[in-house]
Amino acid sequence: MMREAVLYSQIKDGVRCDLCARRCVIREGETGFCRVRTLRDGKLYSTVYGLVDGMAPDPIEKKPLFHFAPGSHTFSISTSSCNFRCQFCLNYHSSQRETPVGQQLTPEEIVALAKRYGCHGLSYTYTEPTIFMELAHDTAEIAHNNGMYNTFVTNGYMTEQAVDYIAPVLDAATVDFKGSGNPDFYRRYMEVPRVDPIFRSLKRMKGRGIFIEITNLIIPQVGDLVDDTRRLARWIVDELGPRTPVHITAFSPMYKMTHLPRTPAVTLEKHIRACKDEGLVFVYSGNIAGHDYENTYCPECGFRAVERWSVFLKKNRLAEDGTCPKCGADLNIAGVKYMGSGGSRLPFFF
Ligand code: SF4
Repeated sequence: MMREAVLYSQIKDGVRCDLCARRCVIREGETGFCRVRTLRDGKLYSTVYGLVDGMAPDPIEKKPLFHFAPGSHTFSISTSSCNFRCQFCLNYHSSQRETPVGQQLTPEEIVALAKRYGCHGLSYTYTEPTIFMELAHDTAEIAHNNGMYNTFVTNGYMTEQAVDYIAPVLDAATVDFKGSGNPDFYRRYMEVPRVDPIFRSLKRMKGRGIFIEITNLIIPQVGDLVDDTRRLARWIVDELGPRTPVHITAFSPMYKMTHLPRTPAVTLEKHIRACKDEGLVFVYSGNIAGHDYENTYCPECGFRAVERWSVFLKKNRLAEDGTCPKCGADLNIAGVKYMGSGGSRLPFFF
């Protein structure tokens, strides 16, 4: 289904797309870099509106969101394509597809499916939600009207206008960095010309009251400089706050980068320590199941408030308002009304 796109401006001989920071100039009959926005008869269209190519009920911890609605279930959806070309993409079969595929679903049908699976909210994820913004926005509005939350898992490479467009219906976002946001790494391995728009959109999200968690994928040999992680951590402390949850995640060989090894736990721990040295309070490991850095400890009294294994919440000991049950410390937990106690398992399907 085609739908007229949001956020574009007429220019001489075509339009400029203002959705992501590439700001593609698109002429009649052409598509943008993401392959899913095309100009027909002078109007820009999204070609993936309602064309859902991935969906699954997930634990919210899988996004990963550890401090937003812990223990809740989220209905994840995606469409084909992306505005990045990461050579190590886990979902490359979908994100790097030349022609989008999927099942036609209306926003109403998506929310109905989410409810049928007992989910508390929806996540726009797997590929980059910015490129299916219209579908995400319309679905998110209906989800909100049904008392459900909305979260983005995003590379953050959107314009500030895009943040403003989705902000009224977006509760939380996981913003994914790779190689600690090193600009050379982004150019060489992801075809991303600049990283500054990511930092701008993060500040805008914060200003609009969207709850933020950060992930940082550490890739051995090519994207594993501790100094880069320190720089990123410092920026997060200064601009987003020291209690922003940060996930340092391990790389698995994938797509065009199968020649590289998995990230060893010892490397991850080095980056986690660097983040803590810079003042970050909640720093987690990712993709190393069973690591103690998957749990949440109260920074004031040391109590283990949340126990996890991989992307599953094992035990939620938080007080009803999300504070530490032992000393009452604020643990920066949002979405508390959706919290679950943990211990449940969800079916996975695609
Ligand atoms: S969303 Fe980004 S990549 Fe896609 S057409 Fe717009 S500016 Fe280009």
